[in-house]
Amino acid sequence: MADKKEECGIFGIYGDPDAVQKTYFSLHSLQHRGQESAGIASSDGECIRCFTGMGQVSRVFRAGRGVLKRLDNPTAIGHVRYSTTGSSNPTNAQPFLSEFSQGQVAVAHNGNLINAPLLRDEYEAYGHIFKTSNDTEIIVHLMAKPTHVVKSDPLGHVLNHLQGAYSLLFLFPDRIEAARDPYGIRPLCLGKTSNGAYCVASESCALDSIEAEYIRDVEPGEIVTLDKNGLSSRFFVKPGTVTPAHCIFEHVYFAKQSSLIFGEPVHDVRVRSGRQLAIEHPVDADIVIPVPDSGTSAAIGYANESGIPFDMGFVRSHYIGRTFLSPSQDMRDMAVKLKLTVVKSVVEGKRVIVVDDSVVRGTTTKGKIHSLREAGAKEIHMRVACPPIKHPCFYGVDFPTHEELLANQKENMEEIRKFLRVDTIGYISLEGLLSCASLPKDHYCHACWSGQYKIPVSKVVNKFSMERHQMQLFDEREME
Ligand code: SF4
Repeated sequence: MADKKEECGIFGIYGDPDAVQKTYFSLHSLQHRGQESAGIASSDGECIRCFTGMGQVSRVFRAGRGVLKRLDNPTAIGHVRYSTTGSSNPTNAQPFLSEFSQGQVAVAHNGNLINAPLLRDEYEAYGHIFKTSNDTEIIVHLMAKPTHVVKSDPLGHVLNHLQGAYSLLFLFPDRIEAARDPYGIRPLCLGKTSNGAYCVASESCALDSIEAEYIRDVEPGEIVTLDKNGLSSRFFVKPGTVTPAHCIFEHVYFAKQSSLIFGEPVHDVRVRSGRQLAIEHPVDADIVIPVPDSGTSAAIGYANESGIPFDMGFVRSHYIGRTFLSPSQDMRDMAVKLKLTVVKSVVEGKRVIVVDDSVVRGTTTKGKIHSLREAGAKEIHMRVACPPIKHPCFYGVDFPTHEELLANQKENMEEIRKFLRVDTIGYISLEGLLSCASLPKDHYCHACWSGQYKIPVSKVVNKFSMERHQMQLFDEREME
């Protein structure tokens, strides 16, 4: 964990007297999906207002009731962001509010559009001017195109132009439209509050935070409308024509343990992955400890299956910010130590099995192993609840480059073991991981392990990667 950056979280609610306050609470519960920026857009039925800012939800809305009061309207959408396309700056914060021939619209997006640079090139050639460097803005340009607004379902028509991963919320003055890409890569679910207002969220933990009931997931290729008539649905891609590609990394790491993702509890899938790991990579030891928080459920599974006692060998500080913001490797190592403190009395003199959800670059994992050695662990056995990550993600998760991934840097498992300085190492197999989730195995995306991209990426992505790096370089220079 910690080397990969989270993506985004979205929430929307229609026709609730406390819509803005509930959006604010829901964004707090989705904060694990992005801490770079946050925002809320709300509508009184005629006009949309929007407020966005850099940082975590509490920071953006630190003026507290003042800002929320100004936004106070019965319909709202919200967004927490980690940038996967476009740089980290205030213009890229969402919801993204625009006005076009059909009126106002605010957009909140979780995912990544792999054909956005191509579409953008095309539109810029016709004189379109873009305000941001993020991929979401192209959607509004597509919506504004005169030949698109006259279609019988303009939004459905526009969505058919997009390639990649998207769970999207559109706030129009009189309604919310929620859509999910035909592969259902990112999650999106529907709920209902106790006073009958419909809401939509990236994860069910957001519904729990406002005591809303989970109804169901938005289906891949579906658009759900929340308006004065309640809830209605239509499909922009015929159901059953596309095999889903749900991101199984949501189960491994991104989603909160308390959430339901793709129709099943995240915690349960993680516990099963820990059990599977114990079956595939048994070892004699005194205790099983997790790397908290995302390794905890898998460690419980490993302990249950192996019969080796579970204990908390690390304590996590919730008061330190993101470690990858620290300027140097030394500082980052120190920040990791502050974030995860070893409980010496638990590990000293013991043969320890450490369970983590994943290993990306390996540098932070190495730091944690070093801390365990310093605290007197006699043996350290590393167990990883997902297979070695070897390929980049083009669907909304910002992994390091191909060359920076530990599994690509090292020739074999023995090399990885030596690099991490552990006594033994074991990763769960891809087959084993897929068997821990309930849907058919071919309904998940596992490209970051297998390299099998279900949405063809070759041409589009090569261009996308190039432009993205150029944009980031440009932005970094600007900030210097
Ligand atoms: Fe998820 Fe990996 Fe697929 Fe990206 S490549 S969508 S992280 S499973």
